[in-house]
Amino acid sequence: MTNYLLEITYIIASVLFILGLKGLSHPESARRGMHLAEIGMLLAVIGTLLGQGIVTWEWILIGLVVGSAIGTAMSIFMPMTAMPQRIALSHAFGALAAVLVGINEFIVKGHEITSGLMGALGFEVLFGSLTVTGSLMAFGKLQGIVKSVPMTYKGQNFVNISLFFITVGMFIFLIFFPQNSIVFGTMIALSFLIGIFIVLPIGGADMPVVLSLMNSYAGLAAAATGFAINNKVLIIAGSLDGSSGFILSIIMSKAMNRSFANVLFGAVGTPQVDTSSLHEDRPITRFNVEDAKFALEQAERVVIVPGYGMAVAQAQYAVRELSDELEKRGIKVEFAIHPVAGRMPGHMNVLLAEANVSYDQLLEMEIINPTMDTVDVCIVIGANDVVNPAARTDKGSPIYGMPIIDVDKAKTVIVMKRSMATGFAGIENPLFYQENTKMLFGDAKNVLQQLVAEFKKN
Ligand code: NDP
Repeated sequence: MTNYLLEITYIIASVLFILGLKGLSHPESARRGMHLAEIGMLLAVIGTLLGQGIVTWEWILIGLVVGSAIGTAMSIFMPMTAMPQRIALSHAFGALAAVLVGINEFIVKGHEITSGLMGALGFEVLFGSLTVTGSLMAFGKLQGIVKSVPMTYKGQNFVNISLFFITVGMFIFLIFFPQNSIVFGTMIALSFLIGIFIVLPIGGADMPVVLSLMNSYAGLAAAATGFAINNKVLIIAGSLDGSSGFILSIIMSKAMNRSFANVLFGAVGTPQVDTSSLHEDRPITRFNVEDAKFALEQAERVVIVPGYGMAVAQAQYAVRELSDELEKRGIKVEFAIHPVAGRMPGHMNVLLAEANVSYDQLLEMEIINPTMDTVDVCIVIGANDVVNPAARTDKGSPIYGMPIIDVDKAKTVIVMKRSMATGFAGIENPLFYQENTKMLFGDAKNVLQQLVAEFKKN
């Protein structure tokens, strides 16, 4: 492939990446966006393989088979509910690739390494290495391998900041003495450590922001790789990844009412209590399926708030059926979607779209909250943290300040979950003890199917 053709292929690929990202900005166009980006990636890979004699075909084939085998196994065996963990692993793999390319460049170029090249290489391995271990830590916290509560110790802030400045100092040293392999190796080792240390004090509830931040870092490392090996499509794709990840981090932080600094250093020096084992003695009110049906029949406006439990139970189809039954009876049904409900951005939108719930019925938190006191019945399906009023009222709560869906203001709240267990953040929910709250215990899909069956009886 001539250079000219290669450049054209890269430009088309880059345009497709941008159109892909644009498509992802709305659920309706998201699928098309993904397909466009996939075609872009295919073009970029083919162009690179045909256009640049980097390695021999045997190695490419081995990489293709191993990578495809791992990717296929992950997509088959990892459930939708484990998607954040899968994303964390993908970031770790992507960043590891950037680090390996960087080390390879350092070894191959040897004495030819200039200060300019080291600027790109150093950035690549620094960000790449901390993304590898940071993402693996995030994976561990999400998977429960590492404790999800913030892990803090005295002087942690000082250690982290010192480590960071020492590493940046080494990077600057390398720009002046680019062939020093000992400093290069030590910088990589310290960057791996930084990745672990910066995620340690961050609690599970802030993990969504960490994931999108790691996404951003992986993108920046890829862009730096592009500069190091002079690959334009990598520069463009890495920059898009880096900036979109950064924007997503800001959106997620806003959704939790946290500043970046608060998310990254908030827990430092203020060890938080894990309240997961505490349960209040106050009485709760229980509902059975018949009670729920009766309450719903009297309602004019019903709001459904899905959460992680709906994903676990795979209850989205049953939710849709219930919504249809209610609408048949002239009851207005809306869905209130919290930006961090579930375990990945857009988790609830994806599941409800799968069950063909109309996009017009989905309302964002800011839209629904001011009208919450006019809602007759609010059905909370497997949501907990995102409807926890302690975030609004209890200054001592670890989630204080995180915007929630104000379901507690509805006239009646029906909470569907299996037990009094806590959600992801591991904290008590005063909503369950309110006078207007009715607990309907059971697996969400099971309970919803029974409820739909009740409605279908007449
Ligand atoms: P939560 O994790 O707070 O609560 C989920 C609830 O679902 C649990 O209390 C559980 O109670 C219930 N549940 C589990 N399985 C079932 C089932 N089969 N049937 C019925 N109920 C079930 O979920 P939310 O969606 O409210 O909040 C999301 C949390 O996850 C937030 O803290 C957010 O910060 C965090 N997070 C979000 C990410 C994102 O990007 N969206 C990524 C990572 C974390 P019980 O066991 O009693 O049934």
